[in-house]
Amino acid sequence: RLYNELIELRGNIRVFCRCRPLSSDEVTRGCSSVVEIDPAQETELQFVPNEKERKPFKFDHVFGPEDDQEAVFSETVPVVRSVMDGFNVCIFAYGQTGTGKTFTMEGIPENRGVNYRALEELFRMLDIKQDADGTQEVHGLVEAPVYNIDGVWEKLKFGAQNRSVGSTNANELSSRSHSLVRVTVRSENLVTCQRSRSHMWLVDLAGSERIAKTGVEGDRLKESQFINKSLSALGDVISALASKNSHIPYRNSKLTHLLQSSLGGDCKTLMFVQISPSSMDSGETLSSLNFASRVR
Ligand code: ADP
Ligand code: MG
Repeated sequence: RLYNELIELRGNIRVFCRCRPLSSDEVTRGCSSVVEIDPAQETELQFVPNEKERKPFKFDHVFGPEDDQEAVFSETVPVVRSVMDGFNVCIFAYGQTGTGKTFTMEGIPENRGVNYRALEELFRMLDIKQDADGTQEVHGLVEAPVYNIDGVWEKLKFGAQNRSVGSTNANELSSRSHSLVRVTVRSENLVTCQRSRSHMWLVDLAGSERIAKTGVEGDRLKESQFINKSLSALGDVISALASKNSHIPYRNSKLTHLLQSSLGGDCKTLMFVQISPSSMDSGETLSSLNFASRVR
């Protein structure tokens, strides 16, 4: 409760930046890091593409290569808990393919991410008895009731697998599709008998890389333009919310239309901007940092 009062004062949109480690492959190829993070500065990073340029960026929190899943989740948990207070929540990961969006949201079996940890936290707080009502208002949305944390990892994995149907290359497909998990929490206050239903969306967005770099044509080009349109529409919505505009352009894309009830109003929004430290990716990194600055 106290946290929600604090967040109210500071606004409902948080932006966290997470920079993954340089991969061994990047080290072998002689890439250097263009991102400097001072562990004593939890909210700032320096973008240093060459000796002459140095640009600081500020976020609500910055996670560097040393920060593990637990450190990331410990900053995320207040937003997750607000679902129990009846707030709608939207947590999403934005960034170029290969920067750790899926690592942050899904994670890997031995190092689970926000999706699993968020559900685990909700189960820790609840005594569960309600189940799913079977509504399916979104094409492709599969609703599954869960009564405890057992089996949640498998269910999340099932969702992730569905994403790669029809593609021989999972990474290629994930760069071209958004993955959305919606958690519905229904609760009843036993004293006032007041019922509430709130949603938490957990979104692993399509890769934000520019079309020119991938050099695609035809249907693939249309698809890329569609993705870029939904990502920029999302940016427009969040920046309109952040600057408290009266008109919020939700209807400019399917994605923002779908997330409308969980973005804005008194909803809590948390965006992870995922970046690569590699000198090879500095162009995309700068554009992601700029995108994130727009919404803050
Ligand atoms: P994306 O979903 O943005 O395309 P991935 O989550 O697939 O990126 O990450 C690309 C690779 O980098 C994966 O092998 C992943 O395990 C690794 N990785 C990403 N972030 C981290 C991190 N913070 N620490 C260690 N490995 C990471
Ligand atoms: Mg991914």
